[in-house]
Amino acid sequence: MQVTLLTHTPEPERVIAAAARLCYSPSSAAELKERLTEKEVADLLKIILKSGHLSTCEHPSFTFGIDGISRTCSHQLVRHRLASYSQQSQRYVRYSEPEMIIPPSISDDEELTALFQEKALEAFEHYQELMDAGVEPEDARYLLPQAVATKIVVTMNARELLHFFSLRTCERAQWEIRGLAEEMLRLILPLAPLIFKKSGPACIRGKCPEGKFYCGHPRKMDKDGLLVIPEDQWVYRSKDSID
Ligand SMILES: Cc1cc2nc3c(=O)[nH]c(=O)nc-3n(C[C@H](O)[C@H](O)[C@H](O)COP(=O)(O)OP(=O)(O)OC[C@H]3O[C@@H](n4cnc5c(N)ncnc54)[C@H](O)[C@@H]3O)c2cc1C
Repeated sequence: MQVTLLTHTPEPERVIAAAARLCYSPSSAAELKERLTEKEVADLLKIILKSGHLSTCEHPSFTFGIDGISRTCSHQLVRHRLASYSQQSQRYVRYSEPEMIIPPSISDDEELTALFQEKALEAFEHYQELMDAGVEPEDARYLLPQAVATKIVVTMNARELLHFFSLRTCERAQWEIRGLAEEMLRLILPLAPLIFKKSGPACIRGKCPEGKFYCGHPRKMDKDGLLVIPEDQWVYRSKDSID
């Protein structure tokens, strides 16, 4: 999995603070954005996040380029409706090489990995056979496994990212989208620590809302209020895919 931050709104925290301050000020947003001190920005962000009045967090957005996630993962990602997506098409792009994502529960075991690779390659060969027989990729792709790797560009605003991180960095989230969410969070934390501090699963801020599905081991926050993401989980290991 490779996640790149392609672009983002400059000074995202200042934009949010200016938008919030504008509601109660005769000044223009442009003036406020220039004039607000660092402390005022920080204080406003604190109030906004604490109160849950998050509409001002919809102004800054972040665009990620994501390569090498499975179609299983991208299907879960695009369920998040308040985001924009562009995904590599299986109608217009013919796979010439089988790139498959292998779940760690399989890739950690040699025998299971061999079995997985054999079956995945078989499916890929049948996909090729269909296209060689004149079937268009848009129909031949029906034979491809969900493990097949895809590329996608996603843009989310800061409010949607807070929501996305809350759901998808939780232990209940499936491992691949959790890895993706954690990597996205890791990339933008330094750019907007006031927004994304305390961002992550609900358990780092208080009680787990999952009831009987509570995993029993709440995630940790460091002294600055940032979700602790173990280094070996930053990006899923390359052995999780076959090229
Ligand atoms: C652990 C886990 C397990 C899951 N299991 C399943 C499953 O078994 N089956 C399944 O189908 N899905 C499953 N999902 C997906 C889940 O149901 C959501 O589709 C997905 O997480 C997107 O979240 P969302 O709808 O809150 O938010 P987004 O689409 O990201 O929208 C953000 C918020 O905007 C608001 N919103 C957006 N659209 C509307 C609307 N039309 N009307 C009103 N408010 C709106 C809501 O407040 C929403 O929370 C699972 C998700 C997780 C995290």
